[in-house]
Amino acid sequence: MAELLASTRNRVKVADNGYVYTLAKSKGDKKYWGCENRKICNGRAMSYACDGGMEVFLTKEHTHEPRLEDVSVQRLRSTLKRKAIEQLTAHPVALIREGLSDLNDFAVAALPEHQSLRRMINRTRENTISGRLFLLHDIEESATTEEGPKGIFASEENLRYLFSSTTWYADGTFQVVPILFYQLFTVHGSVAGTVLPMVYALMQSKTEEDYRYVLHNLKDKAR
Ligand SMILES: [Zn+2]
Repeated sequence: MAELLASTRNRVKVADNGYVYTLAKSKGDKKYWGCENRKICNGRAMSYACDGGMEVFLTKEHTHEPRLEDVSVQRLRSTLKRKAIEQLTAHPVALIREGLSDLNDFAVAALPEHQSLRRMINRTRENTISGRLFLLHDIEESATTEEGPKGIFASEENLRYLFSSTTWYADGTFQVVPILFYQLFTVHGSVAGTVLPMVYALMQSKTEEDYRYVLHNLKDKAR
């Protein structure tokens, strides 16, 4: 089964049989993918959603061998980007060390410098926290009480995925947020059968009113 990877700049990638593809276009249930080494390779694939995952078919051969270690590295990058947000206060080195324990020796050899992984984690956090592109609804605008949500974060692209998902999932992480905030509430949507976090809200309490507040904001955005 193919595996979806969240990539840099929130573009969606898929890994299949040792090749990694970036999304070229979507047409209903079908998705068209191009080899991520597009400078040297014109490999292409098509996918259908099926059984909660997706099936990928090669439509144009690659001009290079598959590299399973590259897929492991992409998976690590994807996991680190997710954990950078979910575990905001964890040290980058600790997250990297944890991620490395899942890799085999070939994958470790194919890894970029740890320094660049650290930069990636920090950049992900900065984009989320400072919210240049990311802030959907900030503290000043908040119309709720002092205990209300303190910020809702999402990217335009993530919102598009969320709004095209038929099912939403929500989750709360309590212990990993900075001391000022009470919980990190996440809303997940599905992309081609894989559930990924799309929206993050920093909450100071967990009342029904607060959850409603976040969902109402998303509903407004969807109009
Ligand atoms: Zn290729």
